[in-house]
Amino acid sequence: NRLLEIKDVYAKTEEKEILKGLNLTVNKGEVHVIMGSNGAGKSTLANAIMGHPRYKVTSGEILFEEENIIDIKTDERARKGIFLSFQTPEEVPGITVEGLLRSARMSITGKPIKLRSFRTELKEKLELLQFDESYAARYLNVGFSGGEKKKNEIIQMMLLNPKLVVLDETDSGLDVDAVKIVSNGINQFKNEENAVIIITHNSKMLEYLRPDYVHILLDGKIVKTGDASLAKEVIDNGFADFKDIVRS
Ligand code: ADP
Ligand code: MG
Ligand code: MG
Repeated sequence: NRLLEIKDVYAKTEEKEILKGLNLTVNKGEVHVIMGSNGAGKSTLANAIMGHPRYKVTSGEILFEEENIIDIKTDERARKGIFLSFQTPEEVPGITVEGLLRSARMSITGKPIKLRSFRTELKEKLELLQFDESYAARYLNVGFSGGEKKKNEIIQMMLLNPKLVVLDETDSGLDVDAVKIVSNGINQFKNEENAVIIITHNSKMLEYLRPDYVHILLDGKIVKTGDASLAKEVIDNGFADFKDIVRS
């Protein structure tokens, strides 16, 4: 039931090396949390998994369902079942929420879906994330609050039903109620056949999600792995204790 295996990955943007020998294994059914100081490489890890062209993996392997995906393009990775939510989602004028989600779904599955049945599904998800039905017809993210953009991404995740989800700082811009709504959405999505990697430092979100593993990412590597108690340690004391691991 191995889903993702990252083996000794080095990655850079432009000229700067950011990931420096990162290892991570994720099995189906698991929730993994990544924590780490600003600039440690968390978003770079997320983008390396998704194959963002600005992030170049210079050595190591990323195995998804036992296949090395290093040379596979982003859209193909999405079709294989990998989903990345963005730290700062973009506004897309001219494309409605419903239009984008439906075409994304058809492109991922390669199958047409009738507007009426898609609409029913979307309506259900909008309700779950406590969006008014009228959001379906709005232009994607245009005039959305930070929280609404994030909730919209959770809807997108649910409708695409990926095997592996990477959520990058999904809590940022969310008020306390929205943290709960989004966490519920993630918990509802989660099953024994998929896995979630979430970058977060939000203690409420950690409480709701009950991660199986918590990883500390510093200076481009995972320096420590533990259970939920490790997250509490970080929230209480910061990263100082782990920085010694990096230096030694
Ligand atoms: P984190 O998400 O942990 O805060 P990032 O992975 O975003 O960290 O960034 C790691 C380092 O790489 C930072 O020093 C950041 O400034 C740099 N970096 C990230 N993306 C780019 C980019 N597109 N071009 C140049 N430098 C980048
Ligand atoms: Mg950051
Ligand atoms: Mg980041």
